[in-house]
Amino acid sequence: MTRVLLASRNAKKLAELRRILAAAAVSNVEIVGLDDVPAFPDAPETGATFEENALAKARDGARETGLPTIADDSGIAIDALNGMPGVLSARWSGRHGDDQANLDLVLAQLNDVPDERRGGGFVCAIALVQPDGAEITLRADWRGTVVREPSGTNGFGYDPIFVPEGYSVTSAELSPGEKDAVSHRGQALALLLPHLKAL
Ligand code: IMP
Repeated sequence: MTRVLLASRNAKKLAELRRILAAAAVSNVEIVGLDDVPAFPDAPETGATFEENALAKARDGARETGLPTIADDSGIAIDALNGMPGVLSARWSGRHGDDQANLDLVLAQLNDVPDERRGGGFVCAIALVQPDGAEITLRADWRGTVVREPSGTNGFGYDPIFVPEGYSVTSAELSPGEKDAVSHRGQALALLLPHLKAL
């Protein structure tokens, strides 16, 4: 059994990865979180891309713990905003993690953008770094449309204003299981599975 660090303190992310591994009958790895290893300083997220941020976090984890380390970075990239908020998604309104203020600002910015130009997508990058220096990064996009009126109470962040392609409801109106099966994060984790099986 190989211990693998998921460089996160988010209990939901840890549970999700463990659930996906169990469903895929991947039994060679045990996932631990940042709360299960000796503490080390969190570096600020300064990368220009999702991949850079994920890779930086995974490198820090592998160097500090000696464990193969997975890290992710995600956000929403809106076409009419030239791909922003992008890596600034969690702090778009100027306050880190204020989901309501971030969503309100995006809606105000898109106020005069017509319906046919409101495309965008959630993006998830995942990096896996091994103590011997081997590195991979993976990325998945989940395309959709940014609607004018928030609806739904599931999920977090920009979910209430994002209608995924092929759906007529927002991602905040999907059940957690429905969202995991098709989301940017779900797709990126699926791409990661063969790499974990090979550890
Ligand atoms: P992080 O990768 O957990 O730091 O998330 C970055 C930010 O992107 C979050 O704070 C949200 O604003 C946004 N985001 C990422 N994934 C999702 C999602 O699945 N739904 C809604 N917002 C998301």
